Amino acid sequence: MLYTSTRNNKIRVSAAQAIAQGISEEGGLFVPCEIPQLSLDKISALTDMTYIQRAKEILKLFLTDFSDEELNYCVEGAYEKSKFSSEKIAPTVEVGENEYILELWHGPTCAFKDMALQLLPYLMTVSAKKTADGKTIVILVATSGDTGKAALEGFKDVDNTKILVFYPVDGVSPMQKLQMTTQEGNNVAVCAINGNFDDAQSAVKSIFTNGEIKKELAEKNMMFSSANSINWGRLVPQIVYYFSAYADLVEQKRINCGDMINFVVPTGNFGNILAAYYAKKMGLPIKKLVCASNSNNVLTDFLTTGKYNKNRAFYTTTSPSMDILISSNLERLLYHIGGDNDNLVSDLMSALSEKGEYEISEDMLNSIKSDFDAGFADENAVLETISINNYLFDTHTAVAVKVYEDYVSRTNDNIPTVIDSTASPYKFAKTVLCAKLNKESIGLDEFESVKELNKLTGFDIPLPLKALENKEVRFNNVCNKEDMKQMVFKLLNL
Ligand SMILES: *Cc1c(COP(=O)(O)O)cnc(C)c1O
Repeated sequence: MLYTSTRNNKIRVSAAQAIAQGISEEGGLFVPCEIPQLSLDKISALTDMTYIQRAKEILKLFLTDFSDEELNYCVEGAYEKSKFSSEKIAPTVEVGENEYILELWHGPTCAFKDMALQLLPYLMTVSAKKTADGKTIVILVATSGDTGKAALEGFKDVDNTKILVFYPVDGVSPMQKLQMTTQEGNNVAVCAINGNFDDAQSAVKSIFTNGEIKKELAEKNMMFSSANSINWGRLVPQIVYYFSAYADLVEQKRINCGDMINFVVPTGNFGNILAAYYAKKMGLPIKKLVCASNSNNVLTDFLTTGKYNKNRAFYTTTSPSMDILISSNLERLLYHIGGDNDNLVSDLMSALSEKGEYEISEDMLNSIKSDFDAGFADENAVLETISINNYLFDTHTAVAVKVYEDYVSRTNDNIPTVIDSTASPYKFAKTVLCAKLNKESIGLDEFESVKELNKLTGFDIPLPLKALENKEVRFNNVCNKEDMKQMVFKLLNL
């Protein structure tokens, strides 16, 4: 299995090279040259397996340059039971008729990013050994909140790696901020930037592709890589839980193997739902992938009209991990539905960076519509959804639940549907508590809100969030987006 770039399809690299490098030299993203298939028999065989076994079955199709021993080492280390608060790792829970929640937040940072970022450091260090032995890998991260913490936790004290995280100063929840600024480890650094997530992501991308900086790093025997979902090593672990959720429903006798189901995914950078798209193209019986957005509904418009336009108001919402107007992974979808057309992708991406907009052909739009549906939920709808449901949702999951309800009333399509739950409600405790109490504000801080929400609902508080209250803040750097480059040098002691 080889990988190519969305902006130059002459390129051929191994999985290890794609993962170690993170992004292709000309700025494109790595994609598999062909998509492996999994037969219904093989899917059916997943039902009797643990999450770790399921992960090995899926990952070995994509990571063909990893030996069995290497893959075992990676997967067993990442999904070790002690790191997850559910023995099933990602359990599927029934919440209504034909309505299921896939709980992806049982990892150490209580958001779905752990599903990939617990595995990525293993994939990265094995990949670096194969392709760049002896180099120190410098992970640069732009985060809208959850990636930063999950990446810090995954990479802390991992040999031959350093990790630098940039987050928008006013764009993350108090809990997310505290999780990052109190991070332990000898190879980590965190910095706030004056700007939003798109600013942070664009600056990180331009640092990555800056030849001068790369050269300077190479002289110190270092190289950059990415833990954002532009890295294939972030995406491929996410394909696993779509198969796993399907296998759970078969195992629980909710469906027969071969029955169609839908997935609803609360979406920001389009990484999670793109993993679902790969699962569908591999043969998982999925009818529709429903893309759920918050008030930043650029994807709803794009998936329904074929016009992408980021020139619009940016809203800071209660679901900050979805406050994104430039969804990086859409580039991979454009490549696949455009018939592996690298020139087309390069043109569309130039139009996006120069004019902030682009439009795709009728054929491409039809291809999108056969796989995707889309909707969005505004702030009032999110709070109401949390308030009226018995199951306790975080704000991101609530966006998806609301979009699902709208989807069913619009289409009458009520086949079994799995909604991704991407964060623990306690990560956004104050907002969730206000919604539950139908109040606009409460005179409680974040930790008091956690305790109050627990009293009100009886829902368990994850231990890693409980432990934060007494941790010391280690990082309080803030910089302007123009100064991120200097900050990188400073933090790396160059
Ligand atoms: C990152 C994140 C999302 C968005 O996922 P993408 O892969 O960026 O689309 C949704 N919810 C939560 C809680 C997240 O952390």
